[in-house]
Amino acid sequence: MGQKHIAIFNIPAHGHINPTLALTASLVKRGYRVTYPVTDEFVKAVEETGAEPLNYRSTLNIDPQQIRELMKNKKDMSQGSLMFIKEIEEVLPQLEALYENDKPDLILFDFMSMAGKMLAEKFGIDAVRLCSTYAQNEHFTFKSMSEEFKIELTPEQEAAMKNASLPSFSFEEMFEPAKLNIVFMPRAFQPYGETFDERFSFVGPSLAKRKFQEKDTPMISDSGRPVMLISLGTAFNAWPEFYHMCIEAFRDTKWQVIMSVGATIDPESFDDIPDNFSIHQRVPQLEILKKAELFITHGGMNSTMEGLNAGVPLIAVPQMIEQEITARRVEELGLGKHLQPEDTTVASLREAVSQTDGDPDVLKRVQDMQKHIKQAGGAEKAADEIEAFLAPAGVK
Ligand code: UDP
Repeated sequence: MGQKHIAIFNIPAHGHINPTLALTASLVKRGYRVTYPVTDEFVKAVEETGAEPLNYRSTLNIDPQQIRELMKNKKDMSQGSLMFIKEIEEVLPQLEALYENDKPDLILFDFMSMAGKMLAEKFGIDAVRLCSTYAQNEHFTFKSMSEEFKIELTPEQEAAMKNASLPSFSFEEMFEPAKLNIVFMPRAFQPYGETFDERFSFVGPSLAKRKFQEKDTPMISDSGRPVMLISLGTAFNAWPEFYHMCIEAFRDTKWQVIMSVGATIDPESFDDIPDNFSIHQRVPQLEILKKAELFITHGGMNSTMEGLNAGVPLIAVPQMIEQEITARRVEELGLGKHLQPEDTTVASLREAVSQTDGDPDVLKRVQDMQKHIKQAGGAEKAADEIEAFLAPAGVK
């Protein structure tokens, strides 16, 4: 039998690609040929795993400025539906052309890569779903978590979809389980985790060294001060006022603050940067979290998992509905605080930090969650599950 071929399909977003990287590397190490279509920005990251990056064009514009506009009404996801429909129209034919004469034995697709899912159906190839956020079942849905979570299309959007003559698609299909669903969080973090059946494998975060980030300078000095990381991630980060508030809240405090402000904000644009701050567009987050004592985060699923994996309490200032669910979950599980963006001020930031910092109960619960994460098995467990799924009888 020749080498088995696994294809991985995703969307061009750090929060979706990062959790697949260690898994990809593990599958390559186990002897599979892995191909992974990505946009230019992610070629290096995929190369580092040993998989073959293939190039494709995407319509998804993960520009933080635009996302902020789009999310002004943060609960309305219907614009997002339209974006994804356009993406399917653009990407599906490209994937088909790439794989027509090189069909994989198995497809892995991020739950948002609907083109990946559709290609698997079209080719009749088994597919495993990768959940970079919460899994859903009859006990837990995004909708059930927020009355206002709206994903219905407007009539104009419906019409646009019809004109595009796409295979039928509804946003909710993204949340339909496949035969195997790999979820990158421990079961203990998933709301109603115990109600998910054997199709769901909660492997926790899938993390590996990120050589592609080595050029990001190590910015922790030997000042002996406790380290605080502040970041709103890679997509929902265009909020200058927030960074100004953080500077005012933590200037001249005991903290050594490392602040990642994202690609749309110039770190030089801040006047009067205090000595205890270092500000960058992007930081090597995993390396910094190893030394951090507190993480002010937007509550992106990767950042949340990475913080907890490193045993760091969180203050979550969510920017959209999924992050709000996470921020609530963080507070409910006693792993830190949830600060609503509209209530975020210099004073409330200071208060949230002083309530969390040094609280032995919070730290104990964070360390318990850290244990759940270690036990969940990460990338290796995910690769075990995928191998078992691909076992001889399962493959055509
Ligand atoms: N990240 C990073 N450096 C930064 C900001 C983010 O390495 O300065 C990484 C972070 O480690 C995580 C990902 O980018 O893996 C962000 O994903 P998350 O789900 O937290 O948020 P998103 O960017 O999707 O909103």
